[in-house]
Amino acid sequence: MSSTVEATGDTAPTWGLLVNGESMAAGSGEVFDRVSPATGQVVGRFAQGGVDDVDRAVRAARAAFDQGPWPRSSGSERAEVLHEVAGLLRSKSDRYARLESAHVGIPYGRVGWLTDYCADVIDFYAGAARMLFGRSIPLGPAGIGLTFQEPVGVVAAITPWNFPLVLTTWKVAAALASGCTMVVKPASQAPASVLELGIDLLEAGLPPGVLNVVTGPGAVVGRALADHEGVDKVSFTGSTATGRSVMESAARTVKRVSLELGGKSPLVVMSDADPSAASDAALECFFNSGQQCNVPSRLVVASSIADEMIGAVIEKAERQRLGPDDDADLGPLVDERQLQTVASYVDLARREGADVLTGGERVYPADQRGPYYPPTVIDGVEATSRVVAEEIFGPVLTVQRFDELDEAIDVANSGHFGLAGGVFTGDLDVALAVARGLRVGTVWVNTWNKTYPELPTGGFKQSGLGRELGLEGLSPYLETKTVQLNPHGGSR
Ligand code: NAP
Repeated sequence: MSSTVEATGDTAPTWGLLVNGESMAAGSGEVFDRVSPATGQVVGRFAQGGVDDVDRAVRAARAAFDQGPWPRSSGSERAEVLHEVAGLLRSKSDRYARLESAHVGIPYGRVGWLTDYCADVIDFYAGAARMLFGRSIPLGPAGIGLTFQEPVGVVAAITPWNFPLVLTTWKVAAALASGCTMVVKPASQAPASVLELGIDLLEAGLPPGVLNVVTGPGAVVGRALADHEGVDKVSFTGSTATGRSVMESAARTVKRVSLELGGKSPLVVMSDADPSAASDAALECFFNSGQQCNVPSRLVVASSIADEMIGAVIEKAERQRLGPDDDADLGPLVDERQLQTVASYVDLARREGADVLTGGERVYPADQRGPYYPPTVIDGVEATSRVVAEEIFGPVLTVQRFDELDEAIDVANSGHFGLAGGVFTGDLDVALAVARGLRVGTVWVNTWNKTYPELPTGGFKQSGLGRELGLEGLSPYLETKTVQLNPHGGSR
């Protein structure tokens, strides 16, 4: 299937909705454009779906679930399609990297890993599709109990713009491996790679209607999905505020809900840490211009080495090259609104008397007018400041100091988020104490930001509900059914 449904008269490619195996215009006929934050050019035109389009897509997914072959197929049949699409992704790595870079703004040279990583996740769940085993439970003379692992039904997947292909793949791979059918609602800033994934799944042999994609505003399309009676489960990744509203909408029909939400992750650096390795980890705060949920946006550092650590971080931060070119370290923020949000947090820190040690002002690399904001390090912030407590989703690192281990853990655990955290130390006892003490879903010890298909990820506290990746990532898409077999008949 071609991704382009109509000529636009200009060079921007146009994508339709993907419903029941067909690419189609929105019922209203309306479209919206995506302008690349790096170049200011229109890089894609998309169908602007509405409530009726959601209904069409849910009905297609419902029919595919209630009557279609996918939920009734064997694990090995589902694995075959999933392995096939993993191969397609690997063969199109340049296409996906270009799309992601153009739409999100992340430099092309920083997304070369994208399709290999996503293909690996899909291959992992293809294997898992063949291991959806239930249990047998002996009941003595009364017979035997069996448990079946069955797909939960029609899944609405709502995903954000910062890593659209990766974050959608986490959901799609696990849900399809489980035998579910889906309607995916990608973020409006970067829907292209998600639509292409849907098209590649059809090419790989996924039956029509099993995976549908509806683009359009979240407040209309996302909300209609969370409300719809035909949806059994919502799997949402995005901000905590939107996650709350999705949960409220889903409550009306008691849908199953998984939430991957925001973070404000602490990197704890003990006095015996290797300063070079620890400052490299702190630099992860600026990856994708800080637009990643689990970046280490709070540096929690032992007072005795704080000045040395901060100096090392600033030195590396100031070497980051910003720009639209393929080999830049940092691209622009996703749009002007995001830049204004970041700038307003930094201004607030200044008004509260904090020290902005580097960055802190919009920049125009090589005269580019896009929303570029440099790596910014802020010291002297109060733990209660909004700059420390709230997710900024930009290249801003705050510094907090401690003297004792217990204090470090308390500072790291402050706030409503609990997505990830980390510690740098040469002492295994200390590493384990921090790993046990942090109320977060992932703890990195002497490393940061590595994810593997085998390792579950997700949040404590207001960073989310449920887990993705790993074998745990299948459970949200499965229902356990209990069957009692009485060999003698009768009710006893
Ligand atoms: P967002 O504004 O919450 O949007 C996420 C998705 O929800 C988008 O597809 C959006 O559509 C849709 N949406 C908006 N309003 C909705 C509503 N009322 N009902 C249902 N859906 C609605 O988040 P974002 O700005 O795209 O992404 C950044 C956030 O995602 C950050 O907070 C980040 O921490 C979080 N995140 C978390 C993880 C994780 O694994 N925990 C990973 C990545 C990102 P539109 O685009 O059309 O508005």
